[in-house]
This record gives sequence, structure tokens and C-alpha cells, in this order.
Amino acid sequence: MTSLLTGGLVLDPDSGTTTRADVLLDGERIAAVGLGLDAADHIDCTGSVLIPGLIDCHAHVAFPRPESLPRSARILEAVPVLRRLLARGVTTVRDAWGADAGFVHALREGWITGPDLLVSLRQLSPTGGLGDNWDPDAGTPLEDPSLPDPLFDGPDGARAAVRRMVRAGADWIKVGASGAMWSLAERRDVSPTDAELSALVDEARRCGRDVLAHAHTSRSAISAAMAGARSIEHGVFLDAEAAQAMRANRCWYVPTLAAIPDEHARAHRESVRLAMAAGVPIAAGSDMAPRPHVDLLTELRLLAEAGLGEAGALRAATSEAARLLRLDHDRGRIEAGLRADLVLLRGTGLGDVERRIQTVWHNGRAERVGS
Ligand SMILES: [Zn+2]
Repeated sequence: MTSLLTGGLVLDPDSGTTTRADVLLDGERIAAVGLGLDAADHIDCTGSVLIPGLIDCHAHVAFPRPESLPRSARILEAVPVLRRLLARGVTTVRDAWGADAGFVHALREGWITGPDLLVSLRQLSPTGGLGDNWDPDAGTPLEDPSLPDPLFDGPDGARAAVRRMVRAGADWIKVGASGAMWSLAERRDVSPTDAELSALVDEARRCGRDVLAHAHTSRSAISAAMAGARSIEHGVFLDAEAAQAMRANRCWYVPTLAAIPDEHARAHRESVRLAMAAGVPIAAGSDMAPRPHVDLLTELRLLAEAGLGEAGALRAATSEAARLLRLDHDRGRIEAGLRADLVLLRGTGLGDVERRIQTVWHNGRAERVGS
């Protein structure tokens, strides 16, 4: 089954330029891009621009609810969230913790619709660190074999924690290299040692996994980058030394500007500027949780404003994101042979994506045609 998207502009996210071309879809793949192509089915894209399907490198599609509800509520809440993400042009998501391997299974089987999902299950950390949900009042929540215990102490413990995640189907290993904003503010931050981080990344690699590291401080970002983490998440308080360490260790930066409180926006934008100046590749992540709802389209706008520009923000959410996820052989650009993940935007510019989505193709299937 072939169809031809004709008459539109096609974005090359790496150069940030658009060119007039037709795109031939054959099943799940892009068969050809160019002029003079033909197919039985034509879709008129005149006056519009085609961009690659968007990739969110840091989202949470299934967060625990603050109020006490049965376990199923957390899972079911994710169903409309996933459907909505696809309608908003997001065709691939790296879940930064919360979703288990059952989500991947349900999507693959077609029980629910949503983006392709890569899961990391929980955030690994030492006792008292980011992933420690200990509560002096309520005991330990999240007791679920599909979301294994993320806590470790010592390098051997870090290796064991990675193995627990791999056993339960994690695609990525998430680690808290620093604590959360609140724990930094309250000086209750417990971070892993360099030796623990090195053992954790080494074990992840032995298991064929990469590591994404939550790191707010410069020190924690340096530690994670030197240990070999593939991406630094948030990095609100980076300095030039951290940016250099990330560059030297070929580490991506996923700022998640949309998720950080306003009082830190200036420091956060400065982190983005330092990373850009050092040549650190930037990938887009929303840190979206169902509550409160922000998503990748908000992050695109904030990245553009922070200095990437509209084209740079789209690159961070397409080709650069695919490279971070080691999926660039398969998606992230509009080229023959790649997956037919595409978004058609009304009009010809690259900004204000949110208001311009006409149609989304995921694996060659048109998921939604807007008005
Ligand atoms: Zn997050």
C-alpha cells in the first residue's frame, strides 16, 4: 500500500532548511523523497510543511498518583495520555521512569495506541537519593515486581540494581546523579559516588543498555558524564566545566526546560547557552507527567527561546533525539528507508507547532487529521 504526500515542503532537521519535495510512503517506511514520484493514493500537502515525527527523550507517561487509588488507576490514566501524545505529533518517547514493560507490550500488541515507548522503570539511586520514595509516615509505596527496587549502596549494589531493571524489561537505565530540587534546597541530597556511577554505567553497557542521568548540579553532571552516561537530564545549574566534561565524554544534554520552576529559569537558560557554546548536542525532553500537563510542544517553544531557534528546537526533537536514542538509522529524518513517522504542519514556518498540526503519521498510518 503506497501513498504520496504531494506539494508540500519537507524539513531537513540537521540543516534546518525546507525543500519542495514529495514523499512516497510504502507501508511503515518512507520509500522515496523527491519530485516526479507517483502512487495510487495522493495526499495534497500544498501550503504545508512535513517534519519528522517528534521524539520526547524525557517523559513520564505513568506517574504514581498522589492520592491513594488502586494500582490500576495509574495505568489506566496513561491510556488517554499516550493517545493524546500521538495526536500532538509525538511518535517516540523515552519514559524516564514510571512506565513498566507492560506498556511496551500493550502498544506493540495494539491494545492501546500511542508513541513507540522506551522504558526505564525506576530511577536508580543510593539510599536517601532521588529514587528513594521512603516516607516516614506511609512506608514504601510502589511495591510492584514490574517496577523493581531502585536503591543501591556501593558499586556491587549498583550493578545488582541495573540487573534488576534489565530483568524486568528496562530499555534504558535511569540514575539520579543528584537529588531532586527539593532535596537540594533542604540539604538532604544524597548522591552516588563516582565509583558507584562507573560500576552502574559499566554494568548497563554489559547488558546492552545506556544510562540517562538526572543531574541538577554541575558536580553531579560532571560525575555522570565522566562515568559514561549517555545523557544528562535537567542540568539546571551547569557551569562551563560541566559543559566541557559533557562534550569530552560525548554526552547529550536534555534540559527539560518546561518542567523546572520559574525561579530557576534564568540559571537553566544559562546552562543551555553554556552547553551550546561547548558544542554539547541538545535533545528535547518535556519531563511530561500527566499532572500538571506540559508536553514536548511547550518544550519546543522554550528551547527555541533559549537560543536554539525554531529549527534548532525541531532538530533537538527529531534527528538529534534519534541519535541520542541510537535510533537514527530508523527515524528522526525524512529520508528513503526510514520509518514513516511524520507530522504535517499547516503553513510553511517552523514555529508555533502546537497550533499547526494537521496530520500525524506513525509507522505509515495517519493517526489524526485535524481541521
Ligand atoms: Zn523526569
